[in-house]
Amino acid sequence: MRDRDLAPEEFRRFGHEAVDWMAGYLTDPRVYPVVARTQPGQLTGALPASAPEAGEPMEDILAGFHDLILPATTHWNHPRFMAYFSVSASAPGILAEMLTAVLNTNHMVWKSNPAATELEQVTLGWLREWLGLPPTFFGQIFDTASISTMHGIAAARVWAAPETRTSGAPPNMTVYCSEHAHSSIEKGAMAIGAGQDNVRKVPTDAEFRLIPQALAEMVRADRAAGKRPFCVVPTVGTTAVTSIDPVPAVIEIARQENLWVHVDAAYGGAAAVVPELNHLLDGCGDAHSLVFNPHKWLFTPIDASAFYCSRPDILRQAFSLTPAYLTTAEDGLALNFMDYGVALGRKFRALKLWFVMRYFGREGVAAIVRNHIRWATELAAAIEAHPDFELTAPAPLSLVCFRYRGTNEENQALIERLNATGEVFVSGNTMKGVYMIRLAIGNIRTTHDDVFAVWNLVQQTAAELFQDLKQI
Ligand code: PLP
Repeated sequence: MRDRDLAPEEFRRFGHEAVDWMAGYLTDPRVYPVVARTQPGQLTGALPASAPEAGEPMEDILAGFHDLILPATTHWNHPRFMAYFSVSASAPGILAEMLTAVLNTNHMVWKSNPAATELEQVTLGWLREWLGLPPTFFGQIFDTASISTMHGIAAARVWAAPETRTSGAPPNMTVYCSEHAHSSIEKGAMAIGAGQDNVRKVPTDAEFRLIPQALAEMVRADRAAGKRPFCVVPTVGTTAVTSIDPVPAVIEIARQENLWVHVDAAYGGAAAVVPELNHLLDGCGDAHSLVFNPHKWLFTPIDASAFYCSRPDILRQAFSLTPAYLTTAEDGLALNFMDYGVALGRKFRALKLWFVMRYFGREGVAAIVRNHIRWATELAAAIEAHPDFELTAPAPLSLVCFRYRGTNEENQALIERLNATGEVFVSGNTMKGVYMIRLAIGNIRTTHDDVFAVWNLVQQTAAELFQDLKQI
């Protein structure tokens, strides 16, 4: 019977084996097909229906990882993973994740891990400087942007209707965002009980940016109709096309209409680390809250979402609740993160962000992000010059949206064929009835060659699929 932990010498042996494998994987993830070649249920069918009664040898468990889990894995760290947003883990961040697992701490209160509590404040202070946000912004790390945004909307509601905390929310509390905003805004509103119907989608201009005038008109009309507008969520880098909403104009309207402004910069915020692109966050310093995900385009392993709030007092008003067993002698002297959100327990996520920020420095991060944007611009120009393809949106950051000049079905078939090659993973999206290919550049291991090899593959695959494609 195995009723003791792995012996230290065994841990060392398997640890070395695992790290050797990791180093090999990071050296060349290209040996794997990007998209898992598996069918729904195939892995489940290959696994026992019940957990083992008797423990199993570590060799067998690691063999299971290689033989069963890896073939069913889609490789986000592959340099040609260009679907959704291309997010990747850098080696310093991975090392920190390993150390985090070893420490296995939970900093619900300062005392339960002073290092994690203070490092979270320090790293988010550093990141705040990189983003150009004011020092008054209080930062904390959640798992995802969805959870950060939910907290932004929840705080907004307590700000607008303080009675919410004790007696529940008033009806018709209404949130605004653009028609291209991420679904997490609706989900946040659903989660806090504001309701999906009370999320109003503001129309956008030809470049997919929220139209401020339309926002102002909707708010006024809603108020006249008895609704209670309380929050607006502009996006810096929409998921669909990375459009950038005019935050300063939104803030101005929010001031007049007394709305909380939560900025979704989950992806686009990384570009603001590049000094000459810091203007992308212009106006955000006047927002009430903002989310930016280091796990998207800042080479930090999933999960790490930075949530900033200029009104930590409101977060406390919304969420602080201390059971007797969690009081400590340091209360009032040190910060207890449990007072600022729903979760009590917290993973030591700041460690990986600290490793990444220290290893690359601002210069290093900016150089990588700048390259990604440059390659996206070059790719967009190549697509525009091709007679059989067209851009479907401007490419202000590192996402290129385009389509073969054919039907939606043909473009869907093209994506399926591309992804089946194992050479690349791109995703699709439909906007206003038009199906398009999204090619996201953002992986730390992606090179210029990768981007243009994929573009060649797109042309070749289209040529095979659609014989009448004109050659250029
Ligand atoms: N906001 C934007 C703009 C996004 O692109 C995404 C996901 O891609 C999210 C929010 C949600 O991110 P998360 O998966 O961290 O919840």
